[in-house]
Amino acid sequence: MNFEELIQDVYLKIKSREDKGERASYIPELSNVDPKNFGVHISTINQVNFGIGNYNDKFSIQSISKVLALILAYRIVGDEIWDRVGVEPSGTAFNSLFQLEADKGIPRNPFLNGGAIVVSDILLSNLKNPKEDFIDFVRGISNNTTLEYSNSIAQSEKDVGYRNVALCNFIKSFGQIENEPSVILDFYYDLCSLEMSCKELSELFLFLANNGLGLQNNESILSESQSKRINALMQTCGFYDESGEFAFKVGLPGKSGVGGGIIAIHPDQYAIAVWSPKLNKKGNSYKGMMFLEEFTTRSELSLF
Ligand code: GLU
Repeated sequence: MNFEELIQDVYLKIKSREDKGERASYIPELSNVDPKNFGVHISTINQVNFGIGNYNDKFSIQSISKVLALILAYRIVGDEIWDRVGVEPSGTAFNSLFQLEADKGIPRNPFLNGGAIVVSDILLSNLKNPKEDFIDFVRGISNNTTLEYSNSIAQSEKDVGYRNVALCNFIKSFGQIENEPSVILDFYYDLCSLEMSCKELSELFLFLANNGLGLQNNESILSESQSKRINALMQTCGFYDESGEFAFKVGLPGKSGVGGGIIAIHPDQYAIAVWSPKLNKKGNSYKGMMFLEEFTTRSELSLF
């Protein structure tokens, strides 16, 4: 498979299309990003690395970091994590409150804001210096010491984080949160503010295409079974209430963020990252979704 040629072809085709999306404006800082940015980068198990467009520019990865937080918490507490957060697609928006009432404060899955807030709570209870330990973990698995949080993004989100405050307090009211909501939310906003390029993202996530083994030094980041479970969750819950659509059209485990980034994994083959800031109505990158649909259709390498 000549990924370079295919990516180039699909990229140019999607780039020329009209972008009918809108930037996420509910986090003020995200609406300052140039909407014309469009980048793609693939990293494969066979050591192919190829990028096009703005693949080296850093952007706010937002919810994609929920996967990294989950992985770290899963490593620390193991299967006990599933007592605190479910593994079901929610069919609701990422910041919806209403299922939590019926579910007594147990979020349906770790990629909803409520779920990621619970995962942040678990990390706070188990790490000595949560903010430093988390970034060290991410830098360690990607072998990239330049990765950083963005203070301006975190602050911008904190300034308007009314729904996240509500979610955190609501979950705490059911006794499902240990730490102080304000401390959890500060940590959660830091996690969401991580900045990476498409190249950095695809390199970082490649271990999920490799049964949990890092490619640089064969170090086990997750066990084979844990790695499968993370991929299963990304497949079923990675795209808010458009997860079914993504499975239907793209057919890969993946995760999106409201910064316009998407990471998708083809187990045993590759990790691919796409970034285009304008989002469709469900909060996923408009052109990112189109690119991946066309790419997997033409590569004929979907999982199904
Ligand atoms: N930090 C964002 C929020 O809490 C994450 C949303 C996302 O990327 O899905 O609203």
